[in-house]
Amino acid sequence: VYQPITDIQNEQITGFEALSRWSHPERGSISPVEFIALAEETDLIIEVGDLVFSRAIELLSQLPQHVFININVSARQLDDDQFLQRVVDKIKQHGIAPRRLKLEITETMVVDFNKAKQWLVKCREIGFLVCADDFGTGHSGMEQLLELDFDVLKVDQVFVRNMFKDDRYKIIIESIADMAKRLNTKLVAEGVEYEKELQVLQKLGFDFGQGYLFGKPMSEEDAANLF
Ligand code: C2E
Ligand code: CA
Ligand code: CA
Repeated sequence: VYQPITDIQNEQITGFEALSRWSHPERGSISPVEFIALAEETDLIIEVGDLVFSRAIELLSQLPQHVFININVSARQLDDDQFLQRVVDKIKQHGIAPRRLKLEITETMVVDFNKAKQWLVKCREIGFLVCADDFGTGHSGMEQLLELDFDVLKVDQVFVRNMFKDDRYKIIIESIADMAKRLNTKLVAEGVEYEKELQVLQKLGFDFGQGYLFGKPMSEEDAANLF
């Protein structure tokens, strides 16, 4: 399924995040929180990951050129040397510009810093943008953040959710916004559910927003029909 990512300043949908769902014949819809972790324990995540990329790239070929898709990448996919090449082959096949794919990795995935750095350099050479997912909840320091030089920071939902409950969360969001602006990094807010949250994020100069206020995850068909 595909959840809209909205340009926070003009409130137009400009992209999607691909989110996996498993429709099990007996157990119904199984959450990625369950099956992605299981798939990661085996090499199945490689096949699942390839499938997510294939379908997202096919969807991109039906969407206007300015629309992008964000895809979650697992640590094991980073270890697979052939992974990026397979994605490059697929986008060539469909004539898709690489900048229309944004790869999301979490800071907690970065166990081997040098490897992660090499991977990011390779992505940049190809033209893929790389996002730090769940930003603000990881264990990495500021030096790591600077060295990895992400194109986009996706501020974790927890900050938006608590913005009006606890002033300290708002202070952190404001500081992240200031930092991102000065470092020239794009900013996405996750978990935007209420109009009043949107207003604060607009004032803080966020670039993109994602959350139930803008749209829930939807089928490929519905995503294509939005345009
Ligand atoms: P994530 O990457 O942080 O994705 C955002 C999650 O927040 C999604 O849950 C989404 O449905 C949910 N969400 C979006 N807007 C709102 C909102 O306004 N309020 C609330 N409460 N929740 C919102 P989902 O789809 O269950 O995915 C959970 C996690 O599973 C993802 O977290 C991601 O880490 C992982 N995942 C999903 N698909 C894939 C995949 O294809 N590959 C990999 N490696 N991981 C995936
Ligand atoms: Ca994500
Ligand atoms: Ca996230």
